[in-house]
Amino acid sequence: MERKNVRFDRVERATALALLVCTFAVASNAAPPPVQSITSGSARASLLELYTSEGCSSCPPAEAWLSSLVTSDRLWKDVVPVAFHVDYWDHLGWVDVFAKPEYSERQRDYAAAWKADRVYTPGFVMNGREWRGWLEKQKLPTASGDAGALAFTVTSDGVATIQFQPAAAPKSQAPLVAHVAVLGAGLSRKINAGENKGKTLVHDFVVLDYQSTTLRTGSGRTWAGSTKWQAERIDTPTRYAVAVWVTDNRAPIQAAGGWLEDQAVRELSMSDERNETMSKINKSETEWKELLTDDEYRVAREKGTEAPFTGRYWNHHEDGVYVCVACGQPLFSSATKFDSGTGWPSFYEPVERQNVDDYSDTSHGMVRTEVLCSRCDSHLGHVFDDGPRPTGLRYCINSVSLKFVPKDGKDQKK
Ligand SMILES: [Zn+2]
Repeated sequence: MERKNVRFDRVERATALALLVCTFAVASNAAPPPVQSITSGSARASLLELYTSEGCSSCPPAEAWLSSLVTSDRLWKDVVPVAFHVDYWDHLGWVDVFAKPEYSERQRDYAAAWKADRVYTPGFVMNGREWRGWLEKQKLPTASGDAGALAFTVTSDGVATIQFQPAAAPKSQAPLVAHVAVLGAGLSRKINAGENKGKTLVHDFVVLDYQSTTLRTGSGRTWAGSTKWQAERIDTPTRYAVAVWVTDNRAPIQAAGGWLEDQAVRELSMSDERNETMSKINKSETEWKELLTDDEYRVAREKGTEAPFTGRYWNHHEDGVYVCVACGQPLFSSATKFDSGTGWPSFYEPVERQNVDDYSDTSHGMVRTEVLCSRCDSHLGHVFDDGPRPTGLRYCINSVSLKFVPKDGKDQKK
């Protein structure tokens, strides 16, 4: 019996393994101090994958159910949830910003493995096997047995190390593989087109970055490896989590997960910037129109200007960081904000020089220096040389190009 409450897509490609672009750090001898560790117990925890799309009307109920795990006692202890957003419904009129082709490919690989000719959303995969229990309103199964301790540690150089001590010898001859997904939670998104038009969706456990690395055996039975974070921070989640799982011949054998503390997020994201791997975002104007409100689009993408004394931040005095409204890149700190009397939020310097680009702007019969987000080229405002000390600069920025993240915004530790 085919179900009506799922959306199917034909599997066109069944490549053996999705090609993942990853960088792996080499562990150094002088180990930097650990910032945060996330560990599993020895008992087996299940990896629960959801394949979902903002463009599919059948998906919000499945995501809401997944979100209910946020407050479940079972979270991280015996179930580690991850939501991979797929891109194969983008053609229905709404482009899912969290979707990546490799996530769709990952689901197609699963479908090929269990000889299905179609993929569908919402699609659940439990420990590497299709799980239709949610559709049939079953309880989430509990994994049994001993799998061994899995640990994920972020160190102060932004490297994440994975260590696994399996309870039993691996079944296959091939090395074990560790998978790391950085997850965003509390991501609220207004959907302006497609099947979910007019809805505001809140996503939890959204995969923002996914990497895998082959583990090596070291002392005793311990397997180890390391990764660096390369998350594209498209939007600012209320909190970040990490999910780690180990596969033996592609079958998950143990999983661990947990909420990331602020310092770990900082170390991981700073390593990202240190490596300058924050990739440039290139989206079509249609995609930007879907992503931004009309006002945001007019200013950020069409270089408009909001009227003075009307924006949300000209008279805003909280402590925190102002990020790019379009891509989430941190741009200005409240510490460098000053009252310029112009009616626009004004700063004397950006958080990082490389986060903004300057261009000479000769429009409107004036010679001014335009300021753009270096990551997505969104128009922010202009910079003038009549600012206060220490820089003497005045970054005159449109509120609508910014999104304020309060200093304590991510302080929701367990
Ligand atoms: Zn940007």
